[in-house]
Amino acid sequence: MKNPNPIRQVLAMLLVTVSALTSALTSGLTQAQALSTDEQRLVAQVRRHTPDALKLLERSVLINSGTLNPAGVREVGALYAAEFDALGFKTHWVDVPAAMKRAGHLVAERTGDQGKRVLLIGHLDTVFEKDSPVPPWQSNGGKVRGQGVSDMKGGDVIVLLALRALNDLGLLDGRTVRAVFTGDEERVGSPIDVARAALVAAARQSDVALAFEGATRDEQGRDAATIGRRASGGWHLQVTARTGHSAGVFGRDGYGAVYEAARVLNAFREQLIEPDLTFNAATVVAGTSANWDDGQSQGQAFGKTNVIPRDAQVRGDLRYLTAEQGAKARERMQAIAEQALPGTRSRLTFSESYPPMSPTPGNLQLLQVYSQASADAGLGAVVPFPPGQRGAGDVQFVAPFVDSLDGLGAAGGGAHTPDEWLEVASIERGAVRAALLIYRLTR
Ligand SMILES: [Zn+2]
Repeated sequence: MKNPNPIRQVLAMLLVTVSALTSALTSGLTQAQALSTDEQRLVAQVRRHTPDALKLLERSVLINSGTLNPAGVREVGALYAAEFDALGFKTHWVDVPAAMKRAGHLVAERTGDQGKRVLLIGHLDTVFEKDSPVPPWQSNGGKVRGQGVSDMKGGDVIVLLALRALNDLGLLDGRTVRAVFTGDEERVGSPIDVARAALVAAARQSDVALAFEGATRDEQGRDAATIGRRASGGWHLQVTARTGHSAGVFGRDGYGAVYEAARVLNAFREQLIEPDLTFNAATVVAGTSANWDDGQSQGQAFGKTNVIPRDAQVRGDLRYLTAEQGAKARERMQAIAEQALPGTRSRLTFSESYPPMSPTPGNLQLLQVYSQASADAGLGAVVPFPPGQRGAGDVQFVAPFVDSLDGLGAAGGGAHTPDEWLEVASIERGAVRAALLIYRLTR
């Protein structure tokens, strides 16, 4: 018998560890332990400052900060920067080139030489632009509706509330904590590597990243956090075909661009569907001529029913959980495109935007610390959220470099819709958990 491959053995052990961790976390059976004296005081400080945090949240939500309203994004940034300054952080604004038409980002940092170096991620912008008819702030007891209340000014305020409690007790002294609040999360500037340079630079100086996008619950209603988010990118199918009188279709003149595009799309649907992989075909323009304007997200076509169509253009997205799954999907899609019908040619190109945040053992361990802190504070265990069910987010740019956890923000719903709302109690709950997590990670 051959010697077993040592790399295989390590991988197998890792798999066992991951699946044990996953099942322990998924079961949600975290045993609560007592908080230390410091931790009890920390929780009390969070509770003491919660009313102030809610006022700060309202002030920041009342400033419109649609991604395409840079002045508003900067104003929210200045409001939060003053809060960071008061907590002993050094803040600065990172500008991006004017051609990108984005506001830039807020960076805040405190440095020291003890414990893990923690990166906290938020965003200042919302999907609601200046002309949005959605009322910015409507309070209704335990719930607030408004622009960006849970996505994600609530999360930003949770960060500040947790840090305030830690700073009150001197627990940030000698610790390294960085916060990057981006100004264009909802519509990231281009080129993307320039748009995310500041975030990536901060991640390279950190050991863990905590992102405060909206909190979620799993199907059983248990509080969940995000250990993986799918990559998202785009694809563009361009078909060109021989044209001619429609009477000649299927014969000497071939099948035309529309049948070829349909063949490709149908083959994608029949052959590629698998868990955690989606590829939405979003727009089709086809005819004798077909044009698409990416800036306007609009297309135009010209053609006649008695003419074999020459052009077809299809645009779609591609979402996957691991780099390997993405590469395999792209390869199979390319192979399908290559089998063009007679008289046609398909060209398929891909664009990358968000890299995947794979559910790594490091991310699971981070969740375990978070879940334990939550249970110890009497707030119950936190389970992993199914990665396939979450959209893309900024944490994905840093997940390749550091252990990462997302979904530590405010609870609510209806993100990106006129019905976006926030569960007010989730601000205090989120800040208690975050303060304990940061405390434990930096010890
Ligand atoms: Zn968001």
